[in-house]
Amino acid sequence: MPETASAREHGARPGSQAAPPPSPPHSQPDFDALDALPRTATGRELWTALGAAGLTAWCYRDSGTVASGVHPDRLARVLAAADARFAIPTTLSASVQLATALPVLATDPRPLARRELARAVAGESAVALAATDVTAGTDLTALRTEARISDDGVEVHGAKAWIANTTTADHFLVLARHRTGRHFTHFTWVLVPADAPGVTVRPADSALFGSSGVGDVEFDGVRLGREHLVGRTGMGLPAFARHIATERLAGALWGTALCRRALEDTHRHLTTRAHGDGTLWELDAVRQRFAACLVRVRELHALSRQLGDRVAYAYDTGAAATLKAAAGATVGHVLGECAQLWGAAGFTTGGIQETRAQAALFGIGGGATEVVLSAVADTAETILAELANDLAGPGEDAPACGGALPKAAATGPEQGTDVPRPGLGLPRPGGGEPADGLTCPGGGASVWGGAPLDVGEAGPEQGAEARQPGLGLPRPENGQPAPGGGQLPPPARQNLPHQRGAGR
Ligand SMILES: Cc1cc2nc3c(=O)[nH]c(=O)nc-3n(C[C@H](O)[C@H](O)[C@H](O)COP(=O)(O)OP(=O)(O)OC[C@H]3O[C@@H](n4cnc5c(N)ncnc54)[C@H](O)[C@@H]3O)c2cc1C
Repeated sequence: MPETASAREHGARPGSQAAPPPSPPHSQPDFDALDALPRTATGRELWTALGAAGLTAWCYRDSGTVASGVHPDRLARVLAAADARFAIPTTLSASVQLATALPVLATDPRPLARRELARAVAGESAVALAATDVTAGTDLTALRTEARISDDGVEVHGAKAWIANTTTADHFLVLARHRTGRHFTHFTWVLVPADAPGVTVRPADSALFGSSGVGDVEFDGVRLGREHLVGRTGMGLPAFARHIATERLAGALWGTALCRRALEDTHRHLTTRAHGDGTLWELDAVRQRFAACLVRVRELHALSRQLGDRVAYAYDTGAAATLKAAAGATVGHVLGECAQLWGAAGFTTGGIQETRAQAALFGIGGGATEVVLSAVADTAETILAELANDLAGPGEDAPACGGALPKAAATGPEQGTDVPRPGLGLPRPGGGEPADGLTCPGGGASVWGGAPLDVGEAGPEQGAEARQPGLGLPRPENGQPAPGGGQLPPPARQNLPHQRGAGR
């Protein structure tokens, strides 16, 4: 396919060269940049402010290197700071980019991806992560959006629905199929400029998520140069599965902050709302109901502390599914209880009932609760072996998962990152792989939605450019992904049983 004028234009984007992003703050940021925004700020305004203040870069390890992965504590602080100031859709807009869109873009070392990544980190552009198709989002490998790849370029056809940042993005990072069928190597990322001919966006028909720019986007024969392919052909799904794990961690971290904030507001309301001779807070039934929420949020917080590093450092998909399942259930419970305790006052514009409706997203976006629970079930043997290992205490041998799990190797975070947090204590299967369930027996080869995953014993199909995906495997010593996003194991080693947990 000859390169079209638009392909040339979008391939080069002259004049769009990004200045180096502002240096991330070295210590505690004061979040002044966020205080300068109105409470009604949109996701795009928040994104610009985060980038300009260096807070986006601050969320990544190795001095703001996106490819090195998120710094979980810093990501938690930025999400909590956003949550404290803005509505859920605004924080959502930043969260998807921080946790998933930018890390996926960072898997490609070539000039276009690097340039656009730098612009996004600086807050000069926004990138929408367009994975969910018009087909069922929980059935990711059924997606229909196509990338027709030739020697000269790529042509994108299809449509995506319910994508955050759609109406405000400069680029769409589009998960598309380059081959028919459900094989996991049939999918590839394409970076599509929002202003490319053939791209049409429309806002979602929803009053709840406006400030996130959520909407639908159609690609009608969008022709681009091959430099718009992100990562190696066929690596789309593995890269997605790896990085959606971080989005699930982000959901748990943000969910904890959201529940805490809702409980604080509700506590204030209950202690000032007159009832009888005192206040609602003095009713024991109310206090117990509230206390149960406190227990739930502490559980989520503890779980995030326990599993967060495993996701952030080792892309542990089983841990990520556990966190996501817990976040969806906890946020739903806590926000529901708070909303009830507010009575009629909860229905004011922007009140807790609105927040509760928006927060229902925690049980759907980034992996519906049912889907991530299936992924947790796939790791049942690993989880039980780890618990046995922990209960056995130091120096004792614990039962292993199918004989494959030795007791905790205390391997810790990968080298070369700037967050040496002790006590990861990950039990790892023989050979040092993280216990992410991928190599633990017991899980069926299936995709999200329950359809069988077409993964042959020998790995990717013949002729595919991609090698097998590297879900949750240890990173190279320097903590950087290999060029082309290829921190991958050899084909035959990867069972890839847990694509079910890989969808949004
Ligand atoms: C505000 C918002 C922002 C979003 N942002 C993005 C974005 O930035 N990028 C992106 O790619 N996507 C985004 N999404 C899409 C989101 O990821 C999907 O909505 C999600 O994956 C679920 O897909 P679906 O809505 O098509 O649900 P469906 O696939 O239609 O499923 C509907 C329901 O069926 C049940 N179900 C489905 N599968 C199973 C199963 N296997 N077992 C048991 N029950 C099941 C669940 O209850 C599920 O909620 C966003 C959605 C919203 C609402």
